[in-house]
Amino acid sequence: MSAFAELMAYTRETQALGEIAGRLGWDQETMMPAGAAPQRGEEMAAIEAVLHARRASPEVADWLAQAEAPDATGAAQLREIKRSYDRTVKVPADLAKEIAKVTSQAQGKWAAARAAEDVAAFVPVLKEVVALKREEGQALAAGGDLYDAMVADYEHETTAAEIAAIFDAMRPGLVDLRSRVLEKPTPKGLVGEFDEAAQMQLTAKLAQAFGYDLDHGRVDKAVHPFSSGSGLDVRITTRTNKADPFNCFYSTIHEVGHAAYEQNISHDYLLTPLGRGVSMGVHESQSRIYENQIGRGEAFTTWLFAEMREVFGDFGIEDAGSFYKAVNTVHKGYIRTEADELQYNLHIMLRFDLERALMAGDLEVEDLEAAWNDRFEADFGYAVDRPSNGCLQDVHWSVGLFGYFPTYSLGNVYAGCLNQKMRGDLPGLDQELATGDTSSATGWLRENLQQFGGLRSPRDTIQNASGMVPDHAPLMSYLEEKFTRIYGL
Ligand SMILES: [Zn+2]
Repeated sequence: MSAFAELMAYTRETQALGEIAGRLGWDQETMMPAGAAPQRGEEMAAIEAVLHARRASPEVADWLAQAEAPDATGAAQLREIKRSYDRTVKVPADLAKEIAKVTSQAQGKWAAARAAEDVAAFVPVLKEVVALKREEGQALAAGGDLYDAMVADYEHETTAAEIAAIFDAMRPGLVDLRSRVLEKPTPKGLVGEFDEAAQMQLTAKLAQAFGYDLDHGRVDKAVHPFSSGSGLDVRITTRTNKADPFNCFYSTIHEVGHAAYEQNISHDYLLTPLGRGVSMGVHESQSRIYENQIGRGEAFTTWLFAEMREVFGDFGIEDAGSFYKAVNTVHKGYIRTEADELQYNLHIMLRFDLERALMAGDLEVEDLEAAWNDRFEADFGYAVDRPSNGCLQDVHWSVGLFGYFPTYSLGNVYAGCLNQKMRGDLPGLDQELATGDTSSATGWLRENLQQFGGLRSPRDTIQNASGMVPDHAPLMSYLEEKFTRIYGL
């Protein structure tokens, strides 16, 4: 067997083990009996140790040195295997262990500090996490910018300076648009209670309307919605709330965007490095375009209104036009995960700038709360009332996720580019969406983006599909136009 064939066979087995680890994670959030937690922790640690050893194996370095790619796809496979190998061996094993230990303690301390509204209780352990992550960043960056090295874990070949240029260009326009919108009266909301079993039935119908393949997936309930798996087994979770069915429906559509991306990658790449979504930002572009540009659009909500009337009867909204406004209402609020399409990016820009400053050593953990509160008031126009609504709201930093936040907004920016091109290519799309038929839109995304998986870099993936270098202009004009019309600005 050639070195290339041996390396591919070995990598396929590693990926299969990785899928098993992922399924254990899915089980933990959905099915696992509560008493199994300590044993599960040990099981997960065991498989992670096996995975780490395989990814860092000297055999991989030997094969990489000898392997010759048979074609362009093979070359892309080698590029991705090398990227993963280099990343794994750059971080000393002791440091990786220490990070795993400290972040698992930090998550518990963060949860307790958030419940007690006590930032000071979280500061010491966050300082430890920041110090360890900076050490890891230095190992990964090898002389380069350490925050760039962290971003590369989630969005490779993209620098913090490139992201900052996009975000800084968007921020003034978003601040201005949100302040104009919030001067206007709030549209009427839904009234009454919405049976949770009926929500789950409609959610399954929505998932299928967006092309989610239930022969190769399933929908379960979990505290936090997520999508997991790849290839032939991609599962999603959602949640229900009696008073707010939109939470369930739009969480589902979002996760279906992630899951459909994984399901639609060419099966030629099954269980190979190219057989997964290429980056967090591109993944998020799929979930966001399903959720927002398609799912919260005027055409699709016409269909959803009729479906909801049939299932739930009268819920205080008399026509599709008012329903569209209810779906897209902009509220004052502190919490990122509850933010609307318009304000969401401001939440991300705040976190991006603060975590970049933490990693650069320009901001001390002790000063984080004040920096957060100042920035929030500047962008949102009102003061943070308590830490759980401010710097303690997200789990990310406690578990060592630095460089991850910006990918959420990059996803929105990418979705803006894709939506512009898709609408140009499919002029009759809205008539179809108004009947609940998303097949042209999801088919366009499959053909132009999803099928390629990790074949190209994130930036080239977007450029190949949208015909443009990723740029914030399409997203900004889409938001401006949408909310100007809804709020009569
Ligand atoms: Zn997402």
